[in-house]
Amino acid sequence: MNAEIIAVGSELLTPFRTDTNSLYLTDQLNQLGVEVIFKSVVGDDLKRLVAAAQHALFRSEIIIFSGGLGPTEDDLTREAVAEALGIPLRRDPEVLTAIERRFASRGWKMSANNAKQADILEGATVLPNANGTAPGQWLSGKVEGRERIIILLPGPPHELKALFEAECRERLRAKVPPAHIATRTLKVAMLGESHVDARIAPIYKRYSSVQTTILAGAGEIEVHFKSRGETLDAAQAAVDEVADAIEDELGDAVYSRDGQSLEQIVGYWLQMRGATLAVAESCSGGLLAERITSVSGSSRYFVGGAVVYSNPLKTELAGVPADMIERHGAVSREVAAALAEGIRYRCEATLGVGITGVAGPTGGTATKPVGLVYHALASDSGTEVIERNFPGDRKRIRRFASAMALDMVRKKLM
Ligand code: AMP
Ligand code: MG
Repeated sequence: MNAEIIAVGSELLTPFRTDTNSLYLTDQLNQLGVEVIFKSVVGDDLKRLVAAAQHALFRSEIIIFSGGLGPTEDDLTREAVAEALGIPLRRDPEVLTAIERRFASRGWKMSANNAKQADILEGATVLPNANGTAPGQWLSGKVEGRERIIILLPGPPHELKALFEAECRERLRAKVPPAHIATRTLKVAMLGESHVDARIAPIYKRYSSVQTTILAGAGEIEVHFKSRGETLDAAQAAVDEVADAIEDELGDAVYSRDGQSLEQIVGYWLQMRGATLAVAESCSGGLLAERITSVSGSSRYFVGGAVVYSNPLKTELAGVPADMIERHGAVSREVAAALAEGIRYRCEATLGVGITGVAGPTGGTATKPVGLVYHALASDSGTEVIERNFPGDRKRIRRFASAMALDMVRKKLM
């Protein structure tokens, strides 16, 4: 079966609020084997809402409205759906009493406009809302000869989630033909999106029953696989076959096969090898340490380090010779290596990492442009330095630099 989501609310059309409910609902529907084929955001405007509802009723089997069930003038979802379906709204005395009680229990007086939250589409089932005044509504039946399920849910995310879980999930499961969906995610480090796609497209194109999606981030790419089958085993087998073939192609660039982050994987390998890590960061300003310590249990392998933004501090805390900085510049292969070696020595760690670069947008020169970053990894077998020119803004360059450093540690330990 297919579904459509309509997020209602003028605030969702501003730069200040994001429609997150539809992401949650899409995930829930997918888990039931329902594909979301359209979603839209519509402001609080009756005509536009009616039009959106009519389109949805024509083309989609399940239609979920989020929001617009409040007590104010601009909450119009009930009215719009009633008009699109050509059915009346009826004020439900039981729902009205429940709303009145809710107010009374808090010692508040219900204002007149709250009563419209008791307006129910004729024939709809009321879905009680434990976390708010506006109940949800569920209507199923034929609309112009086609079977349709129409669901109205309140906008506040915690109300919508609780109501979906308590009242909608099992009702939908009973209506939806059983479908088994398997998914898998491979995560790839430090390869470009187009490069990855060029290498793996010939593989995934051979498997038309598996949907493959590439999501790119700074230094990390996720390849998502999804398949539906007669049984979960069949769906999983299809997904695993493509994922395994792609993992063979990409080799050790694949760092995770079950959703773990790069910093989790690095933590895993450090523990496996009984190794410790220290970092000296200049342009990444502590982002690398932040990522490493975001993993619970990182105290077992992360010693610490220093954010050495100024040149004197590079000397003072990481032992980088001042004349080396003068001769080669703070952003240089030599200084990166000295940062890694110095912090490793001073923190008595198995591995030391140094990062120095130009995060921009200012500070770039012809020979040292914005995006130039040196990453160094020092160990008892010597020091490795990698130079990269990262694209993007300051945030992206710093993210890239931290991912590169994490990946160097991972490859060293694997
Ligand atoms: P409503 O049910 O339209 O009165 O929405 C109440 C509150 O829930 C609003 O203040 C929104 O900020 C929030 N909200 C409504 N729709 C969404 C949505 N699609 N995603 C996230 N938050 C929402
Ligand atoms: Mg609203």
